[in-house]
Amino acid sequence: MERVVKRNPGEPEFHQAVHEVLESLRPVIAKHPEYVTSGVLERIVEPERQVIFRVPWVNDAGEMVVNRGFRVQFNSAIGPYKGGLRFHPSVYLGIIKFLGFEQIFKNSLTGLPMGGGKGGSDFDPRGKSEGEIMRFCQSFMTELYRHIGPDTDVPAGDIGVGGREIGYLFGQYKRIVNAFEGVLTGKGISWGGSLARPEATGYGTAYFAEEMLASRGESFEGKTVTISGYGNVGTYLIEKVNQLGGKVVTIADEYGYVYDPDGIKDEKLNFLMDLWTVYRRPAQDYAREFGLQWVEGRSPWEVPCDIAVPTATQNELSLADAQRLVSNGCICVAEGANMPCTADAVNYFLEKSVLFGPAKAVNAGGVAVSGLEMSQNSMRFAWTFAEVDERLKGIMKDIYRKSSEAAKEYGLGENLVAGANIAGFIKVADAMMAQGVV
Ligand code: GLU
Repeated sequence: MERVVKRNPGEPEFHQAVHEVLESLRPVIAKHPEYVTSGVLERIVEPERQVIFRVPWVNDAGEMVVNRGFRVQFNSAIGPYKGGLRFHPSVYLGIIKFLGFEQIFKNSLTGLPMGGGKGGSDFDPRGKSEGEIMRFCQSFMTELYRHIGPDTDVPAGDIGVGGREIGYLFGQYKRIVNAFEGVLTGKGISWGGSLARPEATGYGTAYFAEEMLASRGESFEGKTVTISGYGNVGTYLIEKVNQLGGKVVTIADEYGYVYDPDGIKDEKLNFLMDLWTVYRRPAQDYAREFGLQWVEGRSPWEVPCDIAVPTATQNELSLADAQRLVSNGCICVAEGANMPCTADAVNYFLEKSVLFGPAKAVNAGGVAVSGLEMSQNSMRFAWTFAEVDERLKGIMKDIYRKSSEAAKEYGLGENLVAGANIAGFIKVADAMMAQGVV
């Protein structure tokens, strides 16, 4: 860990992600010292390749703008690099490395043959016109195309990158390489996308939480749920929670949160579906539209709930938030976003025996259906919505089973954080050992 901090200065999110995994691996290393003697640990924390590039584009005012693009190809032991692209002003190398590192273990947990990678840019899609977004995506792909490919590295969406952006990126890739191939996932249905890919992360999060709740004889029925982000994960999570008989009462952004005590449903959910994903608008617009309470400058975790699902971004739920949730009677926390709980918040939930689902396991449904999209592309075939949804459900149940079995095997009780890290790690580590020092 000391070496990781020294070799990667100024990247606290990356240190945080590595620290959590290495801590979880203590009992594994004690039993299997070969993971250390073969150098697997030292290699797994070092990306196989990192690309940083200039993304110049022209805005609607005719001015030239320069953003920075990234692709970190972290680990290809069990398949081509796979992971999303994030467009957000907070993006720098440390964010992409933390996300890429997490992706290695998440993808491994899905049981599908995908390595780990991540990319993105410090481009801010908020307030940009369609034309600006298209020109930015085209410029981004004009460099990225040479580093990716359907058997090399398959990017997808993440914060700020949805179906529209994937379309512009795919169009530019196809134009440059002159081949129609499955180089990106999250594509539109008529051009190689998979049914249920948009729903997959939100639905998968609900399926995983159902498994956790069932372990204590509970379900979503009649439960109050608080969430934060209302993008791809949050909106489809709400849809599924409603189907399962629960009620989601908050959405939030960096400026505050909306409290909707009757639950987000029907025409309100329809409105919310496009609010971020299409228009990139603030959460307060939802409160205004339906005359609901807007709570400025505070976090949704102060609202009493049974289940809390952070669905926005890294470190959005602090120790103080965790204490508040527990004292208000919250029984289950599932990480819909990537690393949304700070390390001390996670430890607090584990100490208090709250059902806690870590991001790598909880939100793996998105990349799992990306894996299914790759399979369908390879077969030149498409499954029905019900077929994909059924496979997604099976994968989420399997991830829960693998994570809880690994935790038990290493004497860690119900600790799914350690369980997911261990189960994800062992598959990748064994593949790395089999392939020699590469
Ligand atoms: N960005 C998503 C994640 O964090 C999906 C990645 C993908 O589908 O490749 O897992």
